[in-house]
Amino acid sequence: MLVPVFTLKLNHRINPRMVTVGKYDGTHPCLTAATQAGKVFIHNPHIRSQRFATNRLLQGGLDCDTSLLNINQSVSCLTAGILDPRLGNDMLLVGTQTNLLAYDVHNNSDVFYKEVTDGANAIVLGQLGEIPSPLAIIGGNCTLQGFDLEGNDLFWTVTGDNVRSLALSDFDGDGKNELLAGSEDFDIRVFKEDEIMAEMSETETITALCHMHGSRFGYALANGTVGVYDRSTRYWRIKSKNHAMSIHAFDLNSDGVCELITGWSNGKIDARSDRTGEVIFKDNFTSSVAGIVEEDYRMDGQMQLICCSIEGDVRGYLPAGREMKGNLMDANAEQDLIRDLSQRKQNLLLELRNYEENSKVALSALGGEGDGQIGIIPANTQLQTGLSVNIDSTNQNPNVELNISTLNDTIIRAVLIFAEGIFDGESHVVHPSAHNLSGQIRIPIIPPKDVPVDLHIKAFVGYRNSIQFHVFELTRQLPRFSMYALRTPGTTSEPPSYATFTVSDRVQRVVMWMNQNFLVPEDIECLSMPLEVCFMSLRNGGQLSIKMNTNGEVDGYHSVHQKLTAEMADHSNLVRSLLVRAEDARLMGDMRSMKKGYMELYDLNRDLINGYKIRCNNHTQLLTCLRVVNLAIQRAGRLRVGKPKTQVISACRDAIKNNNVNALFKIIRAGSTSS
Ligand code: CA
Ligand code: CA
Repeated sequence: MLVPVFTLKLNHRINPRMVTVGKYDGTHPCLTAATQAGKVFIHNPHIRSQRFATNRLLQGGLDCDTSLLNINQSVSCLTAGILDPRLGNDMLLVGTQTNLLAYDVHNNSDVFYKEVTDGANAIVLGQLGEIPSPLAIIGGNCTLQGFDLEGNDLFWTVTGDNVRSLALSDFDGDGKNELLAGSEDFDIRVFKEDEIMAEMSETETITALCHMHGSRFGYALANGTVGVYDRSTRYWRIKSKNHAMSIHAFDLNSDGVCELITGWSNGKIDARSDRTGEVIFKDNFTSSVAGIVEEDYRMDGQMQLICCSIEGDVRGYLPAGREMKGNLMDANAEQDLIRDLSQRKQNLLLELRNYEENSKVALSALGGEGDGQIGIIPANTQLQTGLSVNIDSTNQNPNVELNISTLNDTIIRAVLIFAEGIFDGESHVVHPSAHNLSGQIRIPIIPPKDVPVDLHIKAFVGYRNSIQFHVFELTRQLPRFSMYALRTPGTTSEPPSYATFTVSDRVQRVVMWMNQNFLVPEDIECLSMPLEVCFMSLRNGGQLSIKMNTNGEVDGYHSVHQKLTAEMADHSNLVRSLLVRAEDARLMGDMRSMKKGYMELYDLNRDLINGYKIRCNNHTQLLTCLRVVNLAIQRAGRLRVGKPKTQVISACRDAIKNNNVNALFKIIRAGSTSS
């Protein structure tokens, strides 16, 4: 069994998530943590004789190993690391809601002190993308900002909501770090420098992120979830009723792969396999864990995993030696296994007893009157589920409706739905009162975000006076855009703003995508071009209109002209409105708006000319393609004489009309598709 190789008791309370370790003189590691009243303490057990005397650093009184750094403001994040690669020593970085301080502890001097208006909720120090110097990157209210050692913000970008966690990790495996940012809007965003390259929606605020190895990273949520992602795919996750205070990647069983170490609010520490989430080691503090770091704190050449509690208890663990063969909790594991197995035995016995009871009742029912008390329902009982958009005018809160019904005389006693992020909690239970029981239950659902959600449904089916019920289990997926109701085009006002972009897929693919991602009463079909589909948001009544034209090769040449006309019409509308706005501005004497209007007009005109050039090229290319195709058909015809010649040519034309390329090849080769 793994035991700590050292323990310490620091005489300071530690703020959760504000623990780091730095070699401020380049050699001796110092555990550093924020404490209440705007102070940071630095534990330096290696140099006892050194005395500090500046306005910031105070000697820690009786406790000679620690020094206190005065920040005079409540600390919101801190870290330590190399900011100046020319020097070998770590800098200490301390963030507050208004400032970021870079401090050279060894030389007792401020490196920089910057005002950060969006606050510093989270901090990470290291190399980002191609930016040559290390950056201290802070996450604040909707912003990410990275400072070099001179305090220049070489990196700046915006992100959704308050940033609560940051990590640097090579997400795409190109050898350069991306920035992972976890926010209060439940999203983990991946930035390749200032460009978002991936976005993963979680179910709660992301309170911690850590690089594991390769493209894997660990994460923790405010609801007690921890887990591991590989790129944008979640590998595993577990949920606890406690809060994950700190996560860290460390190879505790010496198998060459880091485990995810989590420190919990109840004082527990556990190490989980990065692949499965299985616990390979655990230990307990008497108070909440505040932070987890790693360092060779004994300076003997071996790294330790260092865990700190909010009461100032510190424990250092060495990775397991070879003699332990990765078995960090032998005794515990066996006991746990026995406990698990006996629990399963209990459950199975209970189930068996239920079956026995049932069969007894069933046997007696066969001899006399069956009153449906037994949990037996007709063998052909089926449970049907349907999802629809409920936008009834009498309904104050438009919603998505889940309709569950049985098709015979059975009733649904209760329905349990497990789903993430759509209920207040993880599950929703519907159990009609006794006089309201029927074979149908309608459940309104209002997903707060546009994410696909799996609904794990359990329905209890039986008869009115049943005591036992048959449980149907099934899973339905709520499509991503289920909170949008289909509207007939033209019945609602056009949205005033729009975005135009090119999709390389065929229209059919886009239609398929819409059918999968929206809740439509029946599949949308593309009957004519341009495609136009309108939706209305159930959340705020906003309009969403999707229009699409093809601009492909041979299969799309008919619509090129239509597209040209449609875009020209769009653009000329825009030209008209810009012109009117600009003229209005001129009449009002608002020269700034007028100038802006004409500038936009100038840009639009340039786009139109560029677009026209592109379309001219397209057109020429299409004509060439068509010429080649027609020539091929002509030649195919010339291989025959008389009636077969005309037949081949008309069959080829039909094949082209039907966009059937395989048939075309076959006709040219064999004369018809039937042979
Ligand atoms: Ca990368
Ligand atoms: Ca390991």
